[in-house]
Amino acid sequence: MRVVEVIARKRDGGALSREELQFFIHGVTDGTIPDYQTAALLMAVVLRGMTSDEAACLTDSMVDSGQRVDLSDIPGIKVGKHSTGGVGDKVSIVLAPLAATCGVVMPKMTGRGLGHTGGTLDKLQSIPGFRVDLDIPEFKAALRAVGTSIIGQTASLVPADKKLYALRDVTATIGSIPLIAASVMSKKIAEGSTVVLLDVKCGDGAFMAAPADARALAASMVAIGARAGVRTEALITNMETPLGCAVGNSLEIVECLETLKGRGPGDLVEIVKRLACRAVVLAGRDETEADALCRVERALSSGQALETFGRLIAQQNGDPNVIENYSLLPAAKAREQLTASRDGYITGLRARPLGLAANLLGAGRTTLGDQIDPAVGLIMLAKPGARVERGQPLMEIHHRDRHGVEAALALCSDAITIGDERPMPHSVILDEVR
Ligand code: URA
Repeated sequence: MRVVEVIARKRDGGALSREELQFFIHGVTDGTIPDYQTAALLMAVVLRGMTSDEAACLTDSMVDSGQRVDLSDIPGIKVGKHSTGGVGDKVSIVLAPLAATCGVVMPKMTGRGLGHTGGTLDKLQSIPGFRVDLDIPEFKAALRAVGTSIIGQTASLVPADKKLYALRDVTATIGSIPLIAASVMSKKIAEGSTVVLLDVKCGDGAFMAAPADARALAASMVAIGARAGVRTEALITNMETPLGCAVGNSLEIVECLETLKGRGPGDLVEIVKRLACRAVVLAGRDETEADALCRVERALSSGQALETFGRLIAQQNGDPNVIENYSLLPAAKAREQLTASRDGYITGLRARPLGLAANLLGAGRTTLGDQIDPAVGLIMLAKPGARVERGQPLMEIHHRDRHGVEAALALCSDAITIGDERPMPHSVILDEVR
């Protein structure tokens, strides 16, 4: 088979066969297909798309490029969770201990933040000592002991995706529904989950800005999961505005702890509870949504989910004392406030510039090798719908030696809109795809 013919077929709008996709992924993984041909095929996929058959075959080939984690010796239905990424997205850190408290086994392999979006691993690593590099036996031991574990993807898991993603990142080929769907689902399937819950973000701060695209991505991933025998469901959630009030690694850990103490922001709590209820039902712990909700609310209000988070931290070598003593987390002493330019209602708080602002302060990275500062970030003091008065603080910027402050202030002020009409309140959950 010749790569150039495969590229030409896709360039001309044809569908690739299972054999052609296997050949392509095999060649990418073992390095026999050079980057320029890989990039050409990726661009042809971006422009021409893929059928659902092609997306499923691409996913299978990517799973086969590496190790598949075998969790079959751990009793219970394993419920994986994945978010397509957003600003202030800390759902997994609250959901994992909550679901485990409800009797769900939740294995979670996850990535680092890149660009304007944050990464769960970076957030957890702001907890002193927390290890995200557990090997598979340690991961399984944590799942047995705590019911959940959150670690980085091992090098042997879907190596084809690592190569493809790095190339997509620098060739403007990230934004393709079949490529994103295959990338996400190959990793979820290889992780050994039996059920997958997806949180597809939609809006200014997400890969998918338009609801129709978010729905199409969700439907594609749900279909790929079903074909691979992994029951998959997706929520589509709003990412016009950052989730919760904190953006930045240790600031977000504090917000997670507050949420587990029953004092979380409404939007974060809504998504976490919804996913936790689905996890409980799909894992067979309760039959009805109503019973699942009672179980989830009890786990939160009793403090048991917080206690499980403490056990998760300790199991992964972190210091569980952070739960009661936030001063053990990295903190930036210097603060700057952004105030309201006029009286009115907050009508917009755009996620993308706020994510970029946090990034410029040092909370995120532009390339995968960048160092991050766990202490810096933003606290939003007023979210859309809030009534504000001129001069009232809207945003608190936590910075180190003014690094990035001027640019962050400009982005934050650009992200906020104040109007005369109170915007209609709406649910953060836009849709569900099953
Ligand atoms: N997240 C992934 O894992 N892959 C993509 O392609 C996009 C988001």
